[in-house]
Amino acid sequence: MSLWVYSFGDGKAEGRADMRDLLGGKGANLAEMCNLGLPVPPGFTISTAVCRYFYENERRYPDGLIDEVALALTLVGEATGRNFGDENNPLLVSVRSGARASMPGMMDTVLNLGLNDRTVKALERSADRRFAYDSYRRFIQMYSNVVLGIEHRSFEERLEDFKDERGLASDNDLGGDDWAELTHDYHVIVERELGRAFPQDPNEQLWGAIGAVFASWMSPRAITYRSLNSIPESWGTAVNVQAMVFGNMGDTSATGVAFTRNPSTGENALYGEFLINAQGEDVVAGIRTPQHLTEAARIAAGAEAPSLEAAMPKVFARFKKVCTMLERHYRDMQDIEFTIENGKLWMLQTRNGKRTVPAALKIATDLADEGLLTRDEAILRIKPLSLDQLLHPTIASSAARDVIATGLPASPGAASGEIVFTPEDAATLKGQGHKVILVRTETSPEDIHGMHAAEGILTARGGMTSHAAVVARGMGKPCVSGAGSLRIDVQAEMMVAGGRTFGKGEVITIDGSTGQVLAGAVAMQQPELSGDFTKLMEWADKTRRMRVRANAETPADARAARSFGAEGIGLCRTEHMFFDADRIVAVREMILADTLDGRRAALAKLLPMQRADFAELFEIMAGLPVTIRLLDPPLHEFLPKSEEEIAEVAKAMNVEPQRLRERTLALHEFNPMLGHRGVRLAISYPEIAEMQARAIFEAALDAALKTNAPVIPEIMVPLVMVKGELDRVKALIDRTADAIALERGTRPAYTVGTMIELPRAALRARELAATAEFFSFGTNDLTQTTFGLSRDDAAAFLGDYIREGIIEVDPFVSIDREGVGELIRRAAERGRHARPGIKLGICGEHGGDPASIAFCERVGLDYVSCSPFRVPIARLAAAQAAINQRASTEQPET
Ligand code: PEP
Ligand code: MG
Repeated sequence: MSLWVYSFGDGKAEGRADMRDLLGGKGANLAEMCNLGLPVPPGFTISTAVCRYFYENERRYPDGLIDEVALALTLVGEATGRNFGDENNPLLVSVRSGARASMPGMMDTVLNLGLNDRTVKALERSADRRFAYDSYRRFIQMYSNVVLGIEHRSFEERLEDFKDERGLASDNDLGGDDWAELTHDYHVIVERELGRAFPQDPNEQLWGAIGAVFASWMSPRAITYRSLNSIPESWGTAVNVQAMVFGNMGDTSATGVAFTRNPSTGENALYGEFLINAQGEDVVAGIRTPQHLTEAARIAAGAEAPSLEAAMPKVFARFKKVCTMLERHYRDMQDIEFTIENGKLWMLQTRNGKRTVPAALKIATDLADEGLLTRDEAILRIKPLSLDQLLHPTIASSAARDVIATGLPASPGAASGEIVFTPEDAATLKGQGHKVILVRTETSPEDIHGMHAAEGILTARGGMTSHAAVVARGMGKPCVSGAGSLRIDVQAEMMVAGGRTFGKGEVITIDGSTGQVLAGAVAMQQPELSGDFTKLMEWADKTRRMRVRANAETPADARAARSFGAEGIGLCRTEHMFFDADRIVAVREMILADTLDGRRAALAKLLPMQRADFAELFEIMAGLPVTIRLLDPPLHEFLPKSEEEIAEVAKAMNVEPQRLRERTLALHEFNPMLGHRGVRLAISYPEIAEMQARAIFEAALDAALKTNAPVIPEIMVPLVMVKGELDRVKALIDRTADAIALERGTRPAYTVGTMIELPRAALRARELAATAEFFSFGTNDLTQTTFGLSRDDAAAFLGDYIREGIIEVDPFVSIDREGVGELIRRAAERGRHARPGIKLGICGEHGGDPASIAFCERVGLDYVSCSPFRVPIARLAAAQAAINQRASTEQPET
């Protein structure tokens, strides 16, 4: 029994597909194809355990490995009737890396290993001189590059010079003698670069290549790729050594790649390319134009060169059968590499193929309809976040891109519009029918109305969780944040990007999926939601337990939310309604009023506006639950900031600018996540909460009359710290309902609940649940208050923490079990204890994050609420969470 090496060939293998961890993806699938009886060139896999040993033992190999490799090579020799290093009948091999996950940055392939000045003569005798020396020079170049570190350029330049000297146009014009001469030249190059001769001993070559594969596991590119994709270093890579088969033996030989279904559309048709008389790398190298596999594809593309189906009908028929078999076996679309040597088909690789999102949807639903997958399995096949790509317009693939800056892809989709530098200009121009892009150094809450008015947002500062990024994602608008090379001059109404100056009104395009900023307007592609999407979402809806609501306050967002399948509103942030241009004046009057009467007068102006807002929301949501939150942010956020603005507002309101300044200062919260805000506003200014409650009730009664369906609003009190606060505000709400009952003759139906946004509130959930009829976890604030970091603080350095492994996940993206998640779990348990059946939901950003949604399922929340564009993602993620949760509870305890 070998410990480190797993042989395959001749219809049997020591490995299997499920031994991926030990054999890597490629090795495991080669073994599996052998076990299926498919024609695979014999070979062996040196396991990932060797790679681990290698790095744990100062780059030494384990005892016995050399003997195991020698034995495995003998077996390959027996299967092929050849011998490694034999001067008459040499065995040639390929050496390839193969980690658990496919990994760019790893050493790729060395072909034709085993060739030297003597074995090449045997190859010449068994085939011809041209083939033999063409193979040898390829080997010298590949090996010298990946093992000895000599650049391709050195060899390529020599080949080009050689052709020029002899007036030869293409590689195909070179004959056997030419390649032999070049082989000699290549030897000279190696000696010159390395100071020693190209290794002639096949064993030295083999161990050189094996060592290069293991060394490439620690190449800078591989390390970077691993850290970006959370692949642990401990996985290691395997090495696959396999007998060569030749697709370049003449016109009955070929090599190619195939997908069992179309990877861009998902269509169930064999898709791929091949080249006659070529070796693997020629297909991707682009020197010759590859031919289509099927006649149908050839005709569709209007290509002349014959398809494989026409050129080699027998082999094609066999290949097609193999493809079908592999697809049924793996129950997924396969990405296949094959070679035909003198009319015989050889399979070199199979793996689950990469695909576009529309293709993924089509393939998953088709496989389920074909009976190869259950519907649950089809649901699990789609990455929820990938749906994002389907929901926003994108830049047409054919469009030219004049890139002037690059930032972070903060919110997906693309938009074109005229540059504006202030939220006021955004709102004004939008009102005049213009499309605008709001360009800011960074955004803050008072920019909201401008962000609403803009088609997209571009900032010079801020990360993926900056204000601009978070709010834009919430609004479903494209955003590029942190485009650090932008120079913005708001005063001069200009920005400099890519060395060019752009003024207000000039058109730019932002691509929030790539982070690019482009000059001018660019052609767009509208999203098309296919039948496959609808089908999969229906399956998901039948499977999930949790409901999915949306965070929305504008009618447009509410309608978008419903069209994406939201089952209610989980958070209506009423302050956003206050920022609208037509009411900010009344809001400011209210804040600046010295007396209760003054405040009441301003509130009376706001009441009808709020009532109309709410009524419209209730009508759009037509009986679905709607949670409305009382005013939350510190009041200074509504007041003007710049001196100019202060002067303007003071004049309009007929007060001294100084008074405005003083009031702003008095209301200013140094740390905007804490302080005089949330429920504490309702305690200090009960008349604000009273106005809002009245607006909610009157709107609910009006909307119920209109829609003929009862409207039962859920009134939510933010940032509650102690039960007494909630009690006071609940009493006020109840009194307001009583008053309405007297006036209207009907008492509105409603519930009152609280947000859980402070660690204390989570821990005292039992108490709070005595008053609260529902909890909604406000994980934005709960994360900030638990970690003691504002979101912007976090954006500044959490990235480094993650890269350095100090924390595993960004708590602002995903609820982690030990931190915020732990608080939620306890609060849910304690809340249920005090009030069995208490309704529990989440309305922070995490409500749209698949990993957090899985957590919510495990804790048993009733619903998640997220921004409208995230609703489909949340529906799918909730379905996957339910499936996984069922599977885990069905597992017997171990
Ligand atoms: C929250 O804190 O999670 C929340 C939803 O409230 P906001 O983001 O408006 O503070
Ligand atoms: Mg909050």
